[in-house]
Amino acid sequence: MDEFDLITRCFASMDVRRHDVHLGIGDDGAVTRMAGAAADLVLVTDTLVAGVHFPPDTPAAALGHRALAVNLSDIAAMGAAPAWALLALTLPTADPRWLDDFAGGFAALAGEHDVALIGGDTTSGPTLTITVTLIGQAQRDIVLTRQGAAPGDAVCVTGTIGDAAAGLALLQKPGAADTGIDRAAADWLEQRFLYPTPRVTAGQALAGQVRAAIDISDGLLGDAHKLATASHVDITLEASALPCSPALLAWTGDRTQAEQVALSGGDDYELLFTLPEQLHGAIDTLAQRCAVPITRIGRVCAVRAGAAPGASAVRDGRPLALDTAGYRHFR
Ligand code: ADP
Ligand code: MG
Repeated sequence: MDEFDLITRCFASMDVRRHDVHLGIGDDGAVTRMAGAAADLVLVTDTLVAGVHFPPDTPAAALGHRALAVNLSDIAAMGAAPAWALLALTLPTADPRWLDDFAGGFAALAGEHDVALIGGDTTSGPTLTITVTLIGQAQRDIVLTRQGAAPGDAVCVTGTIGDAAAGLALLQKPGAADTGIDRAAADWLEQRFLYPTPRVTAGQALAGQVRAAIDISDGLLGDAHKLATASHVDITLEASALPCSPALLAWTGDRTQAEQVALSGGDDYELLFTLPEQLHGAIDTLAQRCAVPITRIGRVCAVRAGAAPGASAVRDGRPLALDTAGYRHFR
């Protein structure tokens, strides 16, 4: 039983139904709608566990940033504006210096996005565990979901993909000299893992414009597969179109290997979305409003008769044999 079987079996079937839940389990965030309110609330939560989501020696400031950033990324994927955060911390020890640095990293990113920390919980426990719950607002009916991608849509991503996976690999194997890239490129890749940039401005610019969106946390192909499944469509990604950074290309030393990292690596926190046909020509304008480059990397097709929906990758028309599962806990 992996994490998704577990959620379906034990939690998705709980049967309290409330009329103010507009969107429940199954997307990057949940949406609630209060009678008479102008805006919907978008709620997300994400946990980081030492040794699972980050190496135990990760700098405290980076963890403060990252704990909020991964939640901002889910809010961005819903096209919402972040507002309020709750922080639950489980600490093996209370080291004031560590805590100051952690709080500093959190506060800097919270300040950038005008997020107020309004509560939380602090406990001692054997493993450093950080959970942030973030609440945002979205204008009624423009929230972005994983559903709604349609055959003929273009599939696009923000930024560059695969950098964080390379950065994590470098952090886990110090001695970048061995990999043939210079220290500056290695540092840049490591920063992409340690300090992800949630695409909050982009998410809000895309809301109301694009058909479906998800943030890339568990790997591009796996997350494309989730979007395809939620929308009941097929997605084909063209590996040669993937935006790979110069640093990633230098690290792998080979374009096809960089593409593999981009398809299967995790922790990018970029946005993947699908655009209706009439907007295909407007990608540059959209990228300007998003304040981040956008690259068209694939297309949406109807599901073949009798087959299940999903994502796959091709290179110059030939299918690539890759796992679409993405990262799964308990697998
Ligand atoms: P993400 O990768 O964006 O964090 P996931 O794909 O991991 O989202 O989660 C799938 C869905 O399951 C999400 O809507 C999430 O809110 C929900 N979910 C995860 N764990 C639980 C749980 N223990 N109880 C209820 N819902 C859960
Ligand atoms: Mg997500």
